[in-house]
Parts: sequence; C-alpha cells; structure tokens
Amino acid sequence: RDRAELFGDHLRAQAVRRHSVEQELRAAIIEDRIEVHFQPVIRLSDGAVTGAEALARIRSSSGELLQPAQFIDIAEDSGLIADLGAKVLTIAVGRLAAWEARRVGEGPRLSVAVNVSARQLADPTFPRVVAAAVEENGVDADQVALEFTESALIAANPVTEMVLGELTAIGVRMGLDDFGTGFSSLAYLKRFPIDFLKIDRSFVSGLDGPEVGDDVDDDTAIVTGTVALAHSLGLWVVAEGVETESQLKRLQRLQCDMAQGFYFSEPVTDAEFDRFLGRRFSETPISPN
Ligand code: C2E
Ligand code: MG
Ligand code: MG
Repeated sequence: RDRAELFGDHLRAQAVRRHSVEQELRAAIIEDRIEVHFQPVIRLSDGAVTGAEALARIRSSSGELLQPAQFIDIAEDSGLIADLGAKVLTIAVGRLAAWEARRVGEGPRLSVAVNVSARQLADPTFPRVVAAAVEENGVDADQVALEFTESALIAANPVTEMVLGELTAIGVRMGLDDFGTGFSSLAYLKRFPIDFLKIDRSFVSGLDGPEVGDDVDDDTAIVTGTVALAHSLGLWVVAEGVETESQLKRLQRLQCDMAQGFYFSEPVTDAEFDRFLGRRFSETPISPN
C-alpha cells in the first residue's frame, strides 16, 4: 500500500509464532484438545444463575492452556474458526443438556451463549451445524444464544443474511456482543433478527463512580440509554465484566436484565460450573438502593 515495512527479527518472530499457534490449533481440533470454560450469567431481578457463556480454550500439546486472545485471530485468518466454532458449539450445547437433565424444582430454564465470528455467519453450512447440535442434544433451540459483534454485521453479505434467516427459523437467540464499541449502527437492530445486547465491559467498569443528582457520569448515561433503547425494541440486555458490588447495584437500578463478570465468577471448567446450578446470588445483598 502506501507504506514500507522492514521484514526484520520482530516480524519473523511473529510469523513463526503465528505458524506454531496454527499448528497447535489444527492438532487440537483433531485430537479433541479444545476445552470450553463457562462463565455464569445472572438474572438481576433475583440473582438466579440462568446459564453461562461458553468461552473457548486450547490445551496445547505441552499441556498449557491457551486463551482466545492467543488463537481466535489466527483461527479466523486460517479458516480453522469453522471447525473450532463447531466443536465449541457441540460441547456447549452438550453441557446445557446435562445441566437441564439435573435441574430440580422450579429453577430457571437454563441457556448457553456461544460466540460466533463473522466468518461463521457467512458460512452457508453453519445453520446445519447449529441445528444438529440442538437436535442431537434434545434441547430447545431458544435455550441456545449466539453472540457476534457489530463488525460481523458490517461484513454482512447476501449469504450472511440467508444464514441469519435460517438461524431465526431454527429458533436460536442472537445477540450483539461488546455493544457500543463498534459502529453501533441502529439500522442493524432494525434489519437483523437480534434478541439481546451485551453492554461492553468498558462501559460497566465506569459505573463505580459517585452519582450526584442529575450530574451522572458518562458511563451511567450510556448504560441508561442502551437499556432504554433495547427495552423499547423488545430486546434484553446483558452487562459484561461486572467486577464490583457497586457496579452490580447500579446495573440493577438501571433495569439491566442480566449480568456476568468476575464479581460472580470467572469462566470455570464444566465440572466447576456444576456448583452454580440452582444457585442464587441473593445470598450476597443484591437489592438495589
Ligand atoms: P467476549 O465474548 O466478550 O467474552 C468476554 C471476555 O471477558 C472473556 O474473555 C471473559 O473471560 C472476560 N471477562 C469476563 N468477566 C470479566 C470481568 O469481570 N472482567 C474482565 N476484565 N474480563 C472479564 P476470554 O475468555 O479471554 O475471551 C475473549 C474473547 O474471545 C471473547 O470476548 C470472544 O470475543 C472471543 N471468543 C472466546 N471464545 C470464542 C469462541 O468459541 N468463538 C469465537 N468466535 N470467539 C470466541
Ligand atoms: Mg461473548
Ligand atoms: Mg463481549
């Protein structure tokens, strides 16, 4: 383009690292070393755990646990994201079926949210993968949520529109992740079949500040507006990255529907997630003030 870059040690090291992560990823898919961690999602009206977000991890051949920041970009660029995403979806929906089988009493119906990249949304075979995961595990389609970012919709082409239409017909829920950090074109909310918005944690982290009279801070104003927009369109709102009790209380007061974050729990293994089943976070003072 209009610049020159010197191919030096730095770029060489980067290329070597990318290549080795790609090899790890390829092998991990074949050898079943894709792991999925689950972060509980909490309903703010009563503190009930209503499900989890599934987050991909890779167990490297040397036993190290790789995080998404280390491999998602590379999975997308190499095209491996389709196979990776299918594995994550199958594992996540399988766990959902197991939790539902053990659900007792009148606990809330559970759901699982899975992240989907732009490339998957533009893949005409993706709806079949989703339909198979739902059918083979005997869950209801509306218990499965797919999350993608606004940028996945910017890249939308006729195939994406068809895929979104088929996903709607299957009956899975769809939501916009990291909402407010992309282009936030409101036209997307009208044009695409969106069920929920996830407020990016960069807005949630600012909710700790004092609130005096009408002089609210910017993040509180943004969250207030996002919740109002979502609710008037019939969408629900999930806050991400809740780390403190004061953020939680502010979100409750602002009528946010659901939340997740380190305040409740980090993403955990499926075995560890079992202790959240049937749990309410109302043991901790959860009433808004
Ligand atoms: P995301 O979907 O926005 O997921 C939330 C990320 O925030 C997770 O990072 C989670 O561990 C982290 N997080 C949760 N609560 C808190 C908190 O209270 N404070 C802070 N500071 N962070 C919190 P993770 O697991 O590293 O995932 C990063 C991103 O990688 C995800 O962002 C998602 O975009 C992507 N990703 C993860 N799994 C998959 C997947 O299976 N497929 C695709 N396409 N993308 C994935
Ligand atoms: Mg997400
Ligand atoms: Mg997010």
